[in-house]
Parts: sequence; C-alpha cells; structure tokens
Amino acid sequence: MERLDPRDLAADGFASVFLACYEDEMRWHAQTAADFSRACQSAGLEVFVVPIGYGRVFDPDPSAESLYLREQARTCQVDSRGRRVPKACPNNPSFLEWFSSNMRTLAWLLECSGFLWDEPALYFARGAWACRCEWCQRHFFAERQRQMPLDLDGDVARFRRDTLLMFLLASAAAIQAVDRRLVSVVMPVSSASSLEAGLADDTLAPVAESSATDVLSVYVPWQSEGRDMEIAVRTTAEEAQAATRKNRKPVVLWVGGSPHPRDRLLEALTVARRAGVKHLVIAGHQTLTASVAYERFRPSLAEAIEQAAAKR
Ligand SMILES: [Zn+2]
Repeated sequence: MERLDPRDLAADGFASVFLACYEDEMRWHAQTAADFSRACQSAGLEVFVVPIGYGRVFDPDPSAESLYLREQARTCQVDSRGRRVPKACPNNPSFLEWFSSNMRTLAWLLECSGFLWDEPALYFARGAWACRCEWCQRHFFAERQRQMPLDLDGDVARFRRDTLLMFLLASAAAIQAVDRRLVSVVMPVSSASSLEAGLADDTLAPVAESSATDVLSVYVPWQSEGRDMEIAVRTTAEEAQAATRKNRKPVVLWVGGSPHPRDRLLEALTVARRAGVKHLVIAGHQTLTASVAYERFRPSLAEAIEQAAAKR
C-alpha cells in the first residue's frame, strides 16, 4: 500500500481495487489501509474490501493467520473424525457475533463500495469433512428430523451448502447495517474444487440466486490447473453468465496475471472481452504491480485495458 500510487492505476485505466485486509494485520495497520482506501477513492477508483483470516470461513489463502481462532478454539469446526480444525464454524453464535462486529468495523473504517466474500468453505480434506459441532448437529436435526450421519450424504452436502449461504446472508447484513449501499461480491470456490470439497455439485447457481449476492465473482485458475487459457476463460465466463441470466446480476471474472509472457495477461484480456466479460480483475499485487517488470509492462497493459473498455 505504501509503494503503490492509486493515481497510476487510475491513469492506466483501472476502475477498481480489491483490497485484501488480513485480520492480524488490521490489528496494527488499520490506519494504513484506511488511508490507502481513501487515496484510491480520491483517484476515482472504487474499493472493494476482501477480509482474510477472521475465523477463516472465507479462506482463499491457507497461510492466513487468525488470532481469533487461536484464542477461541472452541468455536472451531469439528470434522467427521471428531477433531477441531482451524476454521471457525459459521453456525457458532459467538463466532457469528464476533465476525459480524468485525465486518461492521471494517465497513465503517474503510471507504468502500462493497466487500468481496472470497471462497467461503467448510473444512474438507482427505475424506474428513466438517462441521459436526454441537451447533451444526442441532441445526441439522431441527431441519431434517434425523441425526447427522458420519457419511457425507446428499442431506449433509445440502446442509453444508445452506450453512455457507446463511453465513453469506449474515455477512451481507453486517456491512449493510453500516451502509445500505455496500455491495456484496461473492466468489464461490471453483466448480472443480467444490466437487472435491464435498459441496453440492452446482455451487454457482445457488450463490448467484442468493439475495446475499449482488455480484457474482469467478476465478479462472488456468495456470495452476494446467488448462488452456482461452478455453478456461471462455467456459468460466459462460458458466457464470448462465448462472446469472435469470437475475441479471453482474459478473466479475478474475485472472491471475503478471508481466511474464507465460501468464498471457494481454491475451486473456482480449479473450475475456470477446466472451462478453464486462468486469475483469487481475490478481494480484504481488505478481503484477509489485513485480520488477511492471513499469516496462504498464504501457501495453494500459493499451489493452483501453481497447477492452472501448469495445464494451
Ligand atoms: Zn459447526
């Protein structure tokens, strides 16, 4: 934040910034984030806050620390082997209260247009799944009139998905309590990893239809999945557009980008524009704007952004 001048981003044609706010960093550097967010707004950039840590229900970064979890281990999810895992349970009332209060504080502190709720997920690994804490067991029994099984059957898969949708509603309500205009952008886990994570097979449609979601966000992890860039961008865009066709919610597409030719960023912009994508986010600061090659890359990136904007 200290090294990046928002005016440079605005001059290159960027329209918004997604600002990662790590729970542990915000304890000490909240003012830096608030100043940066204000500087972005003054430069004409919209700011979206991305809370990371905070009990790790939104957990795109597995290395993110959450001091809350270390201090409040009893709010952790319980997996199918009976172990506490390092993620808070979104059905735990005391965690929900703490989380909502922290999101209200962020919304109040940072001038922004909205929040990105990034990859909400319950724990799942090597056949073990969560959550079977007392709160989840109680909820499950009340809804299905049966004890929660040890196997991840269809009822459990739906229960886990509904748990996350309820948590998204609570998250959206928390920030809108501060300002009703604050937008919730929701990034579900990618469809391949949602199958792996034992969520119901279609995650995009329920998230797109949820009243918690104002904007649907999808990530194209073509590099890490070894996919063809053009096919990955096109099919991901099509899936998201299909999921939002009925409710006409905007779609934001994310690509990983750097100045390095292997990331094919300029081509990805063209492919996304041709696929009808109106909002594209490049992730992220470490690989792109903080890279040593960025200054040399800026003019061609600005040109590609201008072309994409002109043909919209
Ligand atoms: Zn639970």
